[in-house]
Amino acid sequence: RDKLFGGLKKTSSKLSENLTGLITKGKLDAEMLDEIEEALIVTDLGPATAAQIRDKLAATRFDKGIYMADLREVVEEELTQILTPVAKPLEIDAFPRPQVILVIGVNGSGKTTTIAKLAHNFLEQDYGVMLAAGDTFRAAAIGQLKVWADRLGVPIVTGPEGGDAAGVVFDAVKKATAEGIDVLIVDTAGRLQNKRELMDELAKIRRVLGRLNPAAPHDVVLVLDATTGQNALSQIEIFKEVAGVTGLVMTKLDGSARGGVLVAAAKQFGLPIHAIGVGETIDDLRPFDARDLAVAIAG
Ligand code: GDP
Repeated sequence: RDKLFGGLKKTSSKLSENLTGLITKGKLDAEMLDEIEEALIVTDLGPATAAQIRDKLAATRFDKGIYMADLREVVEEELTQILTPVAKPLEIDAFPRPQVILVIGVNGSGKTTTIAKLAHNFLEQDYGVMLAAGDTFRAAAIGQLKVWADRLGVPIVTGPEGGDAAGVVFDAVKKATAEGIDVLIVDTAGRLQNKRELMDELAKIRRVLGRLNPAAPHDVVLVLDATTGQNALSQIEIFKEVAGVTGLVMTKLDGSARGGVLVAAAKQFGLPIHAIGVGETIDDLRPFDARDLAVAIAG
């Protein structure tokens, strides 16, 4: 929790900086509401969230005049309200096993690290975990995932670089089923530059999975880098279209001033947020707690 609060310091400082100085007149008038709304928009919380907070402020009576603490409290309440419905951890409940989790996202978003962190968390819950190196496009991606698998002591299914990703996934599901694995986490190529190819590849993976188990993939988790700010929102839009995203993980919330984008994503898309990344080590994937996050952002 400390790491979450420490990590989101830049986001909350940015919000404070933007808001401090606006509450000067004590009385909340239309001009001040406009200024607060604008200040909230530029902190990545998004226009819809800013409007919601403005409406709440406008509807609240501040009998003794409004202070910074009052503003903070309203921001915290509204953020909690926005984030609570989307806070949903990844549950392992597929029957028959394995539960197949496809992990998607652009290169550099923290996808590989997130897969390792998820695997670690599932191992801690005593689930049998297997990885599949479905990003056959980059040799480095296969190698990196293998390093994590060895470090975690979990089996991994790989194929040759440039090979057929759907083939790797097919082998992995068969192996996982035979070995009684609970969770199969599948890495995929994040080639947004070539939307058509990516779409075809993911469709093929889905077809192969569906043939082995009609319920698979059970989860399609999009990994987003918080430091990319508004860019993360357009990635959700695109991946929703090409991959049928069922939930999000946002990484690099530590040290980013753009953590507000998580709220914008929640407000705009309403997709479940499973977890957040607050650092580079294996323990740095945290379950998403709406209240904690709201408090950390509101500062
Ligand atoms: P991929 O290309 O999407 O697979 O990205 P990687 O998993 O290789 O991550 C890219 C870089 O981001 C690496 O240096 C990771 O250590 C780093 N990274 C991943 N998640 C986090 C996070 O939550 N916080 C921080 N600070 N760094 C992260």
